[in-house]
Amino acid sequence: MLYRAIFLFCLFVGTNSEGIKSPRIVIVGAGASGIAAASKLLENGFENVQILEAEDRVGGRVNTVKFDDYLIDLGAQWIHGEKGNVVYELAAPLNLTDHSSSYNNLFYMSTGELIEPSLTTNITRTYVEYIDSIEDLTLNECQRSMGECLENKFKSYFMRFSDLNETLQEQLLWFFNGAQTSYDPADSWYDISAKYYTEYEILKGDQIINWKEGGYGIILDILMKKFPHPEEELPVLNKTTLNAEVTKIDYSNEDGTVKVTTLDGKEYLADHVIMTPSLGVLKEQYETLFNPSLPESKIRNIKGLGYGNACKIFLAFNDTWFNAEGLKNGGYSILWSKEEREKLDSNPKTRWMSYALGFFFVEHKPRLMYIWVSGKGARLMDDVTDDEVFDQTVGMLYNMLSKDYNVSRPTAMIRSKWHQNKHFRGTYSYRSMETVRTNSSAQQLSEPVIKMGKPVILFGGEATNEHSFSTVHGAIASGWREAERLISLYGKSNNTVKSLF
Ligand SMILES: Cc1cc2nc3c(=O)[nH]c(=O)nc-3n(C[C@H](O)[C@H](O)[C@H](O)COP(=O)(O)OP(=O)(O)OC[C@H]3O[C@@H](n4cnc5c(N)ncnc54)[C@H](O)[C@@H]3O)c2cc1C
Repeated sequence: MLYRAIFLFCLFVGTNSEGIKSPRIVIVGAGASGIAAASKLLENGFENVQILEAEDRVGGRVNTVKFDDYLIDLGAQWIHGEKGNVVYELAAPLNLTDHSSSYNNLFYMSTGELIEPSLTTNITRTYVEYIDSIEDLTLNECQRSMGECLENKFKSYFMRFSDLNETLQEQLLWFFNGAQTSYDPADSWYDISAKYYTEYEILKGDQIINWKEGGYGIILDILMKKFPHPEEELPVLNKTTLNAEVTKIDYSNEDGTVKVTTLDGKEYLADHVIMTPSLGVLKEQYETLFNPSLPESKIRNIKGLGYGNACKIFLAFNDTWFNAEGLKNGGYSILWSKEEREKLDSNPKTRWMSYALGFFFVEHKPRLMYIWVSGKGARLMDDVTDDEVFDQTVGMLYNMLSKDYNVSRPTAMIRSKWHQNKHFRGTYSYRSMETVRTNSSAQQLSEPVIKMGKPVILFGGEATNEHSFSTVHGAIASGWREAERLISLYGKSNNTVKSLF
């Protein structure tokens, strides 16, 4: 069947006296994946490339901005792993990165009591060990959610500590639920699949490599070859139209041409479209975006794979009262009592707060701290204004640390709004219980829609990466993969379709 379709495609190309010269390729989205795909295509002589980007900037979920005197990352911040990590391999030789050092973390009740550090150090170490040995946990002992697996493990482990009363146990479990949903941004760890947890490949090496005084955004310049040698820059930006939100991808035409329409009514004709918007965007728009509808299997995977939220709030201070020793990694984790959580939850304006994990140092940016708000909390913040978040955050900080520290008022705040933004609708993908139920996978999500034997709609983006989803290195690899798909279809230098006979 496929052979027949390929034959038809070649026949079609054959009837066009010159074949398709320099195929028209539209890339939707100028995030890491879209930029990677465009760079690879341009490097291989494909010139008829057009990127349509809905935002007024490139980078997508890589978003390095100026805040106070520093560059900070509202999206991706760390390089996860070294061996086989394309970001590390590109950036480390350029001396742009720095390794993490041991984490110096204290646990405080939200009301200001310090929890005995030796106790929390032991427990946190055990949490990390559980996660590291997750393969045994998921394969041998638990076929259910991460929440159920880890909760049971922890409950038996807690029994070793006589001074760990039930109240504190419950508060620690809430914290670990929050920590887990910062890696896999579900609403709760009961929605994270333990069975599929090991699909994510932990690349060997340091998991939290930072960008020193810089930010993750430089990776885009490296991909486009703008850095370190500006004279070698590929014309990716010239071929990018900003503020161009794609509203319709019509692949109904008999001759295989795809018509891409943007919000301002402009139309672009393409032989191939590479889609890179987030899974959150696909979930929200797959019904309206495509004509005809996507195949059933594609829709099942869009619905079945998990995609969630997180928020980062950065605070700037005039001094470094919170880190007198100048440590690189560390901070203050929050434990919330059940009563306080219930109180916060009763008010729509405050219910995000108990999803805040703590106040943490930012490497190489000594006067900054950031708060990580995990999973559901990030979505609950949508209705809260920046001023309200600032006041609430300052209140949290004073309540928690002013007994032990000379807390000063932050001079500025900035926060991410990934869920609010319709071009993202969240942060990154994960494996949910629904993923298991629907037997969904990144591999299936990545399969192109074929028409007349040619891939007309191709799918890139982090969520299409089988083992490195949720990361920048995964997004880049997915962009390269889709570019390679077209390169192998047409051949490298001469962009006419390769003879398949
Ligand atoms: C808060 C946060 C923290 C993170 N931390 C890390 C980290 O530390 N390390 C790490 O490796 N990864 C991290 N990630 C994940 C990483 O940022 C993403 O996996 C990666 O950047 C995704 O790239 P992408 O190209 O697949 O998608 P995107 O970056 O989302 O790019 C898709 C582009 O499509 C555009 N678009 C959407 N809809 C349309 C439309 N209709 N028309 C035209 N354009 C459209 C969007 O504006 C966007 O620019 C983090 C992400 C977030 C949000």
